[in-house]
Amino acid sequence: MASFTIEKFQDLVERLGYTIYYQQAIKCECYYNEQPRTTCKYCHGSGYRYLPIKKTNAIATTLQGSNELNIQGLREPGTAYITPKIEIVMGYRDRIIFPEVESKYSQTVDMLENSTSNFYREIKRVLFILQGDHVYEEGIDFKISEDRYSLIFTSADKPKKGTKLSVLYMTSPSYLVMDLIHELRSTKVDKDSVKPYTAKLPNQYLIKREDFVYNNTINEKIPSILEVEREKELERRKAEEEMCRFDE
Ligand SMILES: [Zn+2]
Repeated sequence: MASFTIEKFQDLVERLGYTIYYQQAIKCECYYNEQPRTTCKYCHGSGYRYLPIKKTNAIATTLQGSNELNIQGLREPGTAYITPKIEIVMGYRDRIIFPEVESKYSQTVDMLENSTSNFYREIKRVLFILQGDHVYEEGIDFKISEDRYSLIFTSADKPKKGTKLSVLYMTSPSYLVMDLIHELRSTKVDKDSVKPYTAKLPNQYLIKREDFVYNNTINEKIPSILEVEREKELERRKAEEEMCRFDE
């Protein structure tokens, strides 16, 4: 058996791993009595906020533990293992996006004036848009917005404002770290070295598809300032009403 060296491992991840966009999770300030606030404008009730994206590599394997270094590891229904490069230490709820992988995603969106409400995920390709029995076509009826999170309707024959559209599209799968496996792995190295020392070994993490964690409802794009303002106004009124009740 060939001996493990950090250099060999790093090289393996570089050559055979997926490109990943990695975001560290940080617990949101809205926690009250161990529960995040469902109306929180920062985390939308998920309880976690995310730091800016870092681009790196990781090897993905299936839940069965077979060493498949291909796309199959990510096609498991919702769960996979990943091993990033040695220097990356992941934490609970960190987010991992696989930009090279496409996954199919379906949801409904609302028709606004000329565009749709925001999609949950970045749109790579639109497969199908349906409203009642009417099918809309890319390039003829609509185009994808610049930020790739909504559709802009260009034809006169667009869906009515306020209607719901069924959409099927391709996006990049996003996962959350659910378990830290072998977090404390290290090895004593003394072969050929003057002094024995402890070397860190690669860490493995259990990741789960984000839509399975949040059940499709929470990981929406950040709401507009207007929505946040409206929410604040509602909260203020509710508080006022409660005050009045105490006065009676
Ligand atoms: Zn929050």
